[in-house]
Amino acid sequence: MKLGIVGLPNVGKSTLFNAITQAGAESANYPFCTIEPNVGVVAVPDERLTVLRDMHSSEKVIPAAIEFYDIAGLVRGASKGEGLGNKFLSHIREVSAILHVVRCFEDSNITHVDGDVNPLRDIETINLELIFSDLEMVEKRIQKQEKLAKSDKSLLPELDLLKRIREALEDGKSARSIELTDEEAMMIRGFNLLSTKPIIYVTNVDENDIQNLGADNSHVAQVKELATTENAEVVTICAKIEAEISELEDEEKSMFLEELGLSESGLDRLIKASYSLLGLISYLTAGPKEVRAWTIKNGLKAPQAAGKIHSDFERGFIRAEVVAFDDLVAAGSHSAAKDKGWVRLEGKEYIVKDGDVILFRFNV
Ligand code: GDP
Repeated sequence: MKLGIVGLPNVGKSTLFNAITQAGAESANYPFCTIEPNVGVVAVPDERLTVLRDMHSSEKVIPAAIEFYDIAGLVRGASKGEGLGNKFLSHIREVSAILHVVRCFEDSNITHVDGDVNPLRDIETINLELIFSDLEMVEKRIQKQEKLAKSDKSLLPELDLLKRIREALEDGKSARSIELTDEEAMMIRGFNLLSTKPIIYVTNVDENDIQNLGADNSHVAQVKELATTENAEVVTICAKIEAEISELEDEEKSMFLEELGLSESGLDRLIKASYSLLGLISYLTAGPKEVRAWTIKNGLKAPQAAGKIHSDFERGFIRAEVVAFDDLVAAGSHSAAKDKGWVRLEGKEYIVKDGDVILFRFNV
C-alpha cells in the first residue's frame, strides 16, 4: 500500500516524514518496496504476530508494510507547472490514498506561506490543485473520445460521465463528490483522477494539544467538520513529538507515550486509519521459518488472497486450511486446533477474514 504525504510548505510534512523513516521497517524484509529518498516504509503494528512467533518458535517476523511517499512541493500553482508541480502531481497518481498534512499549530516563529494559520483555506488550496490537474486530464480525454464516439457509439456513456465530471471540477468540486452507478464507478477508477483518491487529513497540532486529544483545538474541529461532509478521515498528531518517539526503543517509547497520556503513537493511529479508510485487512501465515502478515482488500476470495504471496498460489489454488487467530490461541497450537475441528478446509469461494491464519494448498 502506498500513501502520499502532501501539504503546503511549513506545515510539518518533513518532520512527519523524518519520523516515518526513523521508525522505518527493515527494508531487507521488503524487497518489493521501492527504496528512494522520498519513500519511507513502516511496519503495520500487529500484536498477533508476536503471539504466533512464540507459538511456532519462528525465526522471523514480517509485518505488513506501508510505503509513505513524501510529495513535498505541491504548492499553489502546481497544476500550472509552478515549481516542479506537474512532476509532483504525477507522483500522487500512483498512491492509494492521500495524507494531507494541515497546520493546526500556532507558532509565530514559523511563517505560514499565506500569512496565518487557516486549515480550511490550506485544504482548499491543495484540493484546487488536484482539481485543476484532473480538469486538464478530463478535457483531453473528452476531446479524444468525442472524435472516437462519432464512429463508436459504445463510448457515449463514458463521454457522458466525463462531461459530468468536468462540470463538477469546473465548480471547484472534487470528482469524489459525484454520485455514481456501479458501472460508472468502474469507469472512473480507470481514469485514476487525483480528486477521487481517499483522503486523510493529518491535523498537526502543538505539543500541548496532543496531550489532550479529546479536546480538539478550534482548527482541528473545523477540519473534522469538513471531513464528515467529504467522507474523509482525520488523524491528529504532533509531528514534533512523532519525531521524538521514532528515535526511541520500544520500551522507552511506551513509557514516553504513557507520560503523555497517550495509548499509541500518532504514526500507529495513522496506519490504522489508512487501513480502515482503504477497506484493508490482514491475514496471517505462520511456520517455523517465518510469521507474516499480508495486506488485502476486505472481501477478497481465497485464491486472490493467495495470489498476494505468489501468482502460482493463485493459479494452482486447491484449497486453504484456515483457522481464526482467536481460535488458534484458544486451542494453544495448530494441532490442538485441528483436533478440535477448528481448522477449516475452504475452497475457491471462501472470503478471507481479518486475522485468518492460512495455509494454502496448491498445484505447481
Ligand atoms: P514542511 O515544509 O511541511 O515539510 O514543514 P517542516 O516539517 O519543515 O516544519 C516546518 C517548521 O514547523 C519546522 O520548524 C518544524 O520544527 C515546525 N513544526 C513541525 N511540526 C510542528 C509541531 O507539531 N509543533 C510545532 N510547534 N512546530 C512544528
